Amino acid sequence: MSQKMLQFIKVERKMPGKRASKTRTADFAEIYGDYSIKAAQAQASRCSQCGVPFCQEGCPLQNNIPDWLKLAAEDRLEEAYAVSSATNNMPEICGRICPQDRLCEGICTIEQSGHGTVTIGSVERYITDNAWKKGWIKPIKPPRERAQSVGIIGAGPGGLAAAEELRRRGYQVTIYDRYDRGGGLLMYGIPGFKLEKDIVERRIKRLEDSGIIFQFNTEIGPKLTLNTLRDSHDSVLIATGVYKARDLRLPGIGASGVFPALDFLTASNRKGLGDQVPAFDDGTLNAEGKRVVVIGGGDTAMDCVRTAVRQGAKSVICLYRRDRTNMPGSQREVQNAEEEGVVFEWLSGPEAVLHTKANKVKGVKVRRMRLGAPDASGRQSPEKTDQTVDIKAEMVIKALGFDPEDLPVLFDEVALTVNRWGAVRINFDTMETSLSGVYAAGDIVRGASLVVWAIKDGRDAAAHMHAAMKATAKTKQAAE
Ligand SMILES: Cc1cc2nc3c(=O)[nH]c(=O)nc-3n(C[C@H](O)[C@H](O)[C@H](O)COP(=O)(O)OP(=O)(O)OC[C@H]3O[C@@H](n4cnc5c(N)ncnc54)[C@H](O)[C@@H]3O)c2cc1C
Ligand code: SF4
Repeated sequence: MSQKMLQFIKVERKMPGKRASKTRTADFAEIYGDYSIKAAQAQASRCSQCGVPFCQEGCPLQNNIPDWLKLAAEDRLEEAYAVSSATNNMPEICGRICPQDRLCEGICTIEQSGHGTVTIGSVERYITDNAWKKGWIKPIKPPRERAQSVGIIGAGPGGLAAAEELRRRGYQVTIYDRYDRGGGLLMYGIPGFKLEKDIVERRIKRLEDSGIIFQFNTEIGPKLTLNTLRDSHDSVLIATGVYKARDLRLPGIGASGVFPALDFLTASNRKGLGDQVPAFDDGTLNAEGKRVVVIGGGDTAMDCVRTAVRQGAKSVICLYRRDRTNMPGSQREVQNAEEEGVVFEWLSGPEAVLHTKANKVKGVKVRRMRLGAPDASGRQSPEKTDQTVDIKAEMVIKALGFDPEDLPVLFDEVALTVNRWGAVRINFDTMETSLSGVYAAGDIVRGASLVVWAIKDGRDAAAHMHAAMKATAKTKQAAE
């Protein structure tokens, strides 16, 4: 359905309502289980159409949630899909993996009045899954082709969203990625039990069928430089994400059996995709039958503990140095993990990795902590107590977050400006970097963030790139 037709979809709204007190419940079974039209409509019709759309404010894409909920409740699913996809390039993916409790659902008026949120993400997912099934999602056919071309570095959600928006406007788009598949962390980071990989694959295939060229196994770096790309394209987008794993400095940290989170998750995802993964097959990166300790309290740590459970670990313990209330990961994920048998050791920091004479990991020495005065960020700082305990383990996973790689060095381009954390600096009015015609979007600008924010950035960057290229084309035309 075209943007023009969208304005003819009529959805009546009620007048603004009142915001009430705060409590929340969440329905995990609906989000992760089978979801029927009946369940989707039952949820969609719970929306009071309050008219305030807090939910819309809570969504980084400002999705028109009340309208597509109403259309879904009225069984007008094709229209619901048209409204939903007008602001989001992958609604079925966001519906699955957005931390809705911190975004749209956390701020839902029904939730705020203590009646449990409308499960917005599940309905969003249903609408677009149904659209795929019904064949409503077709390759893009731009109304006109443009000669100008764009090079995008990174096929994660930021790069994919930008590619789609630019192709829609008729540009010739090539995406370069060092991986052998598209999707970025959608493919190799987020586990398959949260996001099935065929869901990501069909999005990539649609973009290929739309004329977007993917050059996989192609790293932009010392050999193929950013400068070469600038010479080959009218505009370039950097959407490379953040991949430098934060490390721990501990005695014994180099023991065999200690792994960075992304090595563990990528091996598991590749196995799920049917790839040959020798390090998984020989047991190195397989948690089966092992006692596993995961260090960290963010969403990556939650993905690791839940993956280890699924691989048949003997036990899974998560160490986090603050308490439950102060952990950065989603409470929903913690609850899921606990239900699956994961044990959380709160207020516990690793002191040393214990290993055998042959340097094989055999456990972690843990220091108990207490919470002290708040630090600069306002969070209470963990302080050491004099209590320690040894926890046995055959596998230790470090899940402490990610920082940007050193792009000016990797790209051999010192004029590319980055901030003190290594994130690419952009002009927030244009999303252009310090290099003319080079833009940046997603985690490489924000630091480790969320899929929905990468999509938003990709869409915004595409709009700015389009405006600049259109202006250049006009100037050229006038000069001819
Ligand atoms: C384990 C894990 C779980 C997560 N779970 C969630 C979740 O449940 N929900 C959520 O919203 N967010 C989640 N996130 C965060 C989310 O995945 C990221 O915020 C999002 O993927 C960022 O998108 P991006 O396009 O900026 O980068 P990425 O998805 O990282 O994609 C970047 C792409 O660039 C490519 N690339 C990098 N450097 C180069 C180079 N030099 N040359 C060529 N290609 C290059 C990479 O191969 C990659 O394909 C999770 C992150 C992790 C690590
Ligand atoms: S994109 Fe994410 S935040 Fe926005 S409506 Fe969908 S699930 Fe909610």
